[in-house]
Amino acid sequence: MSADPLLAVDAVDSGYGETQVLRDLSLSVEAGEIVSLVGRNGAGKTTTLRTIMGILTPTDGAIIYDGEDISTLEPTETATRGLAFVPEDRRIFPELTVRENLEIAAHGGAPEADSISVTEALETFENLNARASNPGSSLSGGEQQMLAIGRALVGGADLVLLDEPTEGLAPYIVQDVMEIVEGLNDRGITVLLVEQNVHVCLELADRNYVIDQGEIVYEGTSAQLEADEEILDRYLGVTA
Ligand code: ATP
Repeated sequence: MSADPLLAVDAVDSGYGETQVLRDLSLSVEAGEIVSLVGRNGAGKTTTLRTIMGILTPTDGAIIYDGEDISTLEPTETATRGLAFVPEDRRIFPELTVRENLEIAAHGGAPEADSISVTEALETFENLNARASNPGSSLSGGEQQMLAIGRALVGGADLVLLDEPTEGLAPYIVQDVMEIVEGLNDRGITVLLVEQNVHVCLELADRNYVIDQGEIVYEGTSAQLEADEEILDRYLGVTA
């Protein structure tokens, strides 16, 4: 692990036109970590990921990735550097097959050396392998999440930005998705995970940031957050 974090978001302001959403937001992710950003609906979690990926440009502050300032880069350029954004709606191409969805992701990501092949991705996710020739539209919510994560792997991601991967999934599928995220991390992929579900964060994350109204209001390990009833109650609506 290098002395500098893989990702440093430094005092970032960001938003949509006149609407400022993120205020002086700082967080860091070390190589190999799973870090969560947890907060209520509308707190600014997706906006944070969009800003890191380059879909939005910060109006102040800086985003440093692997020692380079990526604040003003477009998403196509951050993808080439090894970032991958898995959005909440998963963005599967419904009319393409599962295999084709993966093949498309192989173009435009990081250099080939970092990526895994489409065949390897299919072998990693049994459910997808069984449905490789089926259209994306035929997948369940959990399978779509697997495919979206598989696309990040094929694209050669070093840092995966995961937006509410468990949203809308049945509890037993949530377990599967958590195992997939752990599997990603075991491959050496660093994960910044956005969640409303604090239980998922506490189980998966090394460290957690709590966001409220566009500001970071807490940082702590999962053990620290789990024990902090005031924070859980005040910002996450969880009563012990
Ligand atoms: P959610 O769980 O609903 O996705 P979130 O924490 O990810 O919540 P964001 O999607 O980042 O929250 O939204 C933060 C704020 O930005 C909200 O007040 C939202 O209304 C606003 N916002 C989101 N997208 C846009 C947009 N395209 N234009 C203007 N305002 C937006």
